[in-house]
Amino acid sequence: MELQTLVASLPFIGPVYARRLARLEIKTLGDLLYHFPHRYEDYRLLSKTRTVQAGEVVTVQGKVKSIKNEYTKRRWVIQKAVVEDDTGELDVIWFNRPFLAKTIKRGMRISLSGKAELSAGKVVLQSPDYEILKEGEDSIHTGRLVPIYPETSSVSSKFLRNRISQFLPKAKLQEFLPEGTIKNYNLLDFQTAMSAIHFPEDTQALVRARYRFAFEELFLLQLSVLERKSRWSAQKSCFKVTVLHEEISRFIEKLPFKLTHAQNRSVEELVADFTRDTPMNRLLEGDVGSGKTVVAAIGAFITSKNNLQTAIMAPTQILATQHYNTLKLLLEPYGVTVSLVTGGLRNPKSEIRTPKGSSKNNLKSEVVVGTHALLHNQSVLDKLAFAVIDEQHKFGVEQRAKLLDSGNRKCLPHVLTMTATPIPRTVALTLYGDLDLSLLDEMPPGRQKIRTWLVPPQKREGAYNWIKTQVKVGNQVFIVCPLIEQSELESMRTVRAATAEFKKLSKEVFPELKLGLLHGRLKSKEKDQVVEKFREEEYQILVSTPVVEVGIDIPNATIMLVEAADRFGLAQLHQLRGRVGRSDKKSYCLLFTESPSQKVLNRLRAMEEAKTGSELAELDLRLRGPGEIFGTLQHGFPELKVASFTDLPLIHKARDAAEEIFPKLQKYPQLVSHLKTHLVVPN
Ligand code: ADP
Ligand code: MG
Repeated sequence: MELQTLVASLPFIGPVYARRLARLEIKTLGDLLYHFPHRYEDYRLLSKTRTVQAGEVVTVQGKVKSIKNEYTKRRWVIQKAVVEDDTGELDVIWFNRPFLAKTIKRGMRISLSGKAELSAGKVVLQSPDYEILKEGEDSIHTGRLVPIYPETSSVSSKFLRNRISQFLPKAKLQEFLPEGTIKNYNLLDFQTAMSAIHFPEDTQALVRARYRFAFEELFLLQLSVLERKSRWSAQKSCFKVTVLHEEISRFIEKLPFKLTHAQNRSVEELVADFTRDTPMNRLLEGDVGSGKTVVAAIGAFITSKNNLQTAIMAPTQILATQHYNTLKLLLEPYGVTVSLVTGGLRNPKSEIRTPKGSSKNNLKSEVVVGTHALLHNQSVLDKLAFAVIDEQHKFGVEQRAKLLDSGNRKCLPHVLTMTATPIPRTVALTLYGDLDLSLLDEMPPGRQKIRTWLVPPQKREGAYNWIKTQVKVGNQVFIVCPLIEQSELESMRTVRAATAEFKKLSKEVFPELKLGLLHGRLKSKEKDQVVEKFREEEYQILVSTPVVEVGIDIPNATIMLVEAADRFGLAQLHQLRGRVGRSDKKSYCLLFTESPSQKVLNRLRAMEEAKTGSELAELDLRLRGPGEIFGTLQHGFPELKVASFTDLPLIHKARDAAEEIFPKLQKYPQLVSHLKTHLVVPN
């Protein structure tokens, strides 16, 4: 059987199970075998019936002496059996599984694994897992380390165990890692590892199998990163951009502030990229408020001086509008036309706002700001030389992939992706090794530390009163309502909760103040209006779902209140907190939590100390794991199956191995085909 064989065509699967497996993303035999157990039941302790002791988890093997259904007074059915071996006999009981009396028959040889309990003075094996023993077959459900798979309601571990043990010996498990790699890193071969990860002989075999697959996972990831990198650098940039150093200097001098060293360095890196033939593929990473926009603006300025276009894409309409205003302010004095595209370009209702005096149909501005829809409209952007993706947390992965894969492009624009999400070093190495990195690791001067407090329930009242005094002296407040379901950022429930909170706050807590409500289900015009009213200080308080537009810049807002802060990752809280402290006014962040857990409170307390975004992200990675951090607000972040983002030594090894193999990849056709079919990582 080939790994590519569809499970639907395998014996004993059938259309119903094929459909259920598809829901687990299992479509081929390879997918099935790569569906690894997440834990193992240790049923290795074999015992004779006579020596079984209450409290033990044991496996007993013997002959079924009797089995029957018994009906209790409360109309329960219990199954009572007796098994015997050469030392004596043992009572076995199950609850409410009447079919067992049909499957298990007197005289059968059986293996039972479970916990022995004392019942009415007798040792009884309670609800054990069972398996009818057949001559010459190893047991798979009892008497060993038994694999337990991530449970779903419709596909049981028992089913998976049966099928996997049946297919394992028949599957063609040809080694695809290079021989040298296997040797150098002391890895189990594919076949041995695959059988050991499902049915390990002992824990040592399991550890080695997991090591092999963790290595393999990281190694394949690294290869795909290298592949992406080489594909990118094989492209030509679409236009020659000439860098006019003097004009740039003049532009920088006229800015309302002095660039930080980090900004200067990033600008230089950008400039160097522009002069190369291969298109820029750069990630500009900087904490909230570190001043990424102006770096992008300088790039746009350079491009416009070449009579070429820049597209700036923001994840939301509100942010696009904000960028539009910022760029207009910075670039218009130099005669650069900046326009904003709202709605999709393919959408007939799209509206283009261009500066007064120019034609409304003049889409061919030098700088076009909008959402991602922009990227794929070549008729508007036929002179696109520079694309800026302001992705707060998706890192623009999808956008870059689309750029690379969109048809038979002969060239690419220079691409700058901006993110405020601190990417832990291990993650950057693993997933973003194809990007050049510019780091804004320095804040503009004069920024103050944002005082941060944890607020327990009994201090809520006091906090509200304090907010009232702050509003009286002209400060504004964000109130962020909790995430309700981790998976659904903007579910109807979240919106309803925010709406209810808004009503309660308006009526009961702050009846004398004006509050605005912002959530993802509002139309984009309505969102714009709400933000504008807040900016104009018509509202003193803005109540919002966690989606508070991550990059929103309202200098007069000095208080960030987060409800149920414990539901957020530290990096997310840091991002939210970055909404305030954007002027010289003293700013505050109140983290409301009702959690009594010391562990949770300690984690949140890290926010009270002055920590940078990246310190907090590393801390979160250690305390909660990558799934938690990157799972909710940060989609587009693949989860590792076996390996861990915290395992720096293994990440380094896999990277070294990949760098060695990549240049001669074509010599390993097995590896190439495995890369193509088994890579679950998004490009
Ligand atoms: P982010 O990196 O979060 O996108 P922005 O680009 O929105 O940050 O910048 C945050 C604020 O800091 C803006 O109001 C911007 O004008 C200001 N700013 C940027 N660079 C500097 C600097 N070097 N000195 C002072 N203020 C700056
Ligand atoms: Mg920003």
